Amino acid sequence: MLILGDANPLSSKIIINAILEQPESLSLDHAGFYINYSSFVFRSLKRPSFQKFLKWMLRREKIEEHMVRAVQVKVFPLRRKNGKGLAGNCDLSQGKIRIYPKTMTFCRAFKQKFGKPSLLVYAGSRARAALIHELLHLKYATDEKKVRKLAKEYFFTFTRNKASNSSQSLTIYTMIFKAKTFGNFQVFEKGARTSEPVKLQKDIRLSSKPMIFR
Ligand SMILES: [Zn+2]
Repeated sequence: MLILGDANPLSSKIIINAILEQPESLSLDHAGFYINYSSFVFRSLKRPSFQKFLKWMLRREKIEEHMVRAVQVKVFPLRRKNGKGLAGNCDLSQGKIRIYPKTMTFCRAFKQKFGKPSLLVYAGSRARAALIHELLHLKYATDEKKVRKLAKEYFFTFTRNKASNSSQSLTIYTMIFKAKTFGNFQVFEKGARTSEPVKLQKDIRLSSKPMIFR
């Protein structure tokens, strides 16, 4: 386990966790991939612009920082019984959040199709969206519908403030919320290019009253 201390209380709770969880069947090559992936996600989550955003979001939602005991960046992916990968989960009683990676198979195919820069944007954005989602669970508990709706709004607010132009933030939004599985690559490709403005409006209803967190 790696713990890096810093002045930001939430940021200092983010750790990489790989203890005793490497699947036996995993080759060294695979392990290396996942270690790189997790350290990239770790840095993405700790980036000051994102931490500043989270602080704003927690304040806005009246979620107290001490409710978050730890944010663990897991090195290896978790497969649920239905075969779908999990982006994150939250132990409400302990205030423990875990963030999981995509599989290496997925990432290799993604990289081949869209290139490495897009993969990095995807991996970082997916982890940020997952952390936003799980933090909201601390307040809204098992109200999944509410959490999903708010998580989309907050994620979009962050990317829109950070992206150099609005079409870029729409593309990132589409990547994360419109492409759930490998099988949907086709959808992602189409959605990312046309960005489906009408559907998006319905989803997030933000345009009339923008949220500025800076
Ligand atoms: Zn959830």
